[in-house]
Amino acid sequence: MSEKASIIPEQRHGIRADRISSSARKVVERLQEAGFLAYIVGGSIRDLALGHDPKDFDVATDATPEQVRDVFRSARLIGRRFRLAHVRFGREIIEVATFRGLGEGEDDEHREVEQGRLVRDNVFGSEAEDARRRDFTINALMYDPETATIRDYVGGYEDLIARRLRLIGDPVTRYREDPVRLLRAVRFKVKLDLELDPATGDPIPEMATLLQDIPPARLFEEILKLFMGGKAWPTFQALVQFGLWEQLFPNLFDDPARPPVLVEQAMKNTDQRVAEGQPVTPAFLFAAFLWSRVEDRSKELIDEGMAPVEALAAAGEEAIVTQAERVAIHRRFSSMAKDIWCLQPRFEKRRGKRALRVMSERRFRAAYDFLLLRALEDPDLQELADWWTTIQEVGEEERWQMVQAGQGKGKGRRRPRRRKAVP
Ligand code: ATP
Ligand code: MG
Repeated sequence: MSEKASIIPEQRHGIRADRISSSARKVVERLQEAGFLAYIVGGSIRDLALGHDPKDFDVATDATPEQVRDVFRSARLIGRRFRLAHVRFGREIIEVATFRGLGEGEDDEHREVEQGRLVRDNVFGSEAEDARRRDFTINALMYDPETATIRDYVGGYEDLIARRLRLIGDPVTRYREDPVRLLRAVRFKVKLDLELDPATGDPIPEMATLLQDIPPARLFEEILKLFMGGKAWPTFQALVQFGLWEQLFPNLFDDPARPPVLVEQAMKNTDQRVAEGQPVTPAFLFAAFLWSRVEDRSKELIDEGMAPVEALAAAGEEAIVTQAERVAIHRRFSSMAKDIWCLQPRFEKRRGKRALRVMSERRFRAAYDFLLLRALEDPDLQELADWWTTIQEVGEEERWQMVQAGQGKGKGRRRPRRRKAVP
């Protein structure tokens, strides 16, 4: 890798200037007018070159954050020791970061911030250094709107054309510096449909245990990106394949390569909803991931004499606490997962007002969707699931008839509970 960038002209990269946010272009322009270097960097250029729509635009510059604020009086300096400037244009925020150096030693800037240790990423660096401290070559491209050229210090453009995902530098060293890159490798591979360069892909399984050193809160952020981006199911399969899933969600399935149907379908449903622009919540996926553990444990508690709803609440709490040792689950989501679980036994009560009341529960819809998934695993539940489907579709009067009859086709016969065979 050289100090000099290769310059990719517009005729070659073909990114039309109007695909780039005018706010980002304005930020770069004004910094350049003030005599600084400034480029649009990172994921946005990668996404554009691959024909995707970037979700945000980042700018890198040799101006210090304070100098950025001199240029944009309204910029907000954020982060420890004022590492970044946020420049707002209407509803859009452009993140402006000062070029960073590589620093030396083992640990990466992010982890140092997380662990509250001295942060090294205030060490400003050159343009070339800033490119090289990034993770993957395709994430290190710098676009200059003034000349419409891409500046590439690491062979990222070639990799992009070859649809190849490759870490900058020695992969083993780079994973050690920041093991979250293991997850990012899988995420970008699946999201952008890239080949993993062998040197980048091969060490992943043997380095997977390094994820144990990552704080659960940071892993949670990464999990959201892994599973809420519209490719949860292929991402899950790749995580299993690279031995990363077990580091994130240990001991949930007998064979992670063949997860329960309910889990597979929950992910496929989530992807489908993302594709259709419908709202999705990670709580639903967490509820599915942990369900077999929660259900098994709740059955034990029920056998010990606990009422079903309490048993599910207790088992759910246990499962969440255990899981949180690895991946912190935001309370908002864990409590919704618990609601989904605890509503399940209430679906079995179809008689009278009680049944109608379930329908006005805040989490009814999510819990009902969850019941449909359970019915995939347990055919005995299908009739119950159909009943709840029907009652939502019919008019007021018929609804009353249904809850008076209590049951659909079954007529008074209690649905036989399928139990796991006792060995
Ligand atoms: P997306 O936002 O689509 O997930 P992105 O590439 O923009 O992808 P961000 O997490 O927003 O990813 O990071 C922005 C840029 O910062 C990346 O493109 C990369 O250059 C750099 N970067 C992010 N995380 C790391 C890391 N762990 N190690 C090194 N560089 C990183
Ligand atoms: Mg980004």
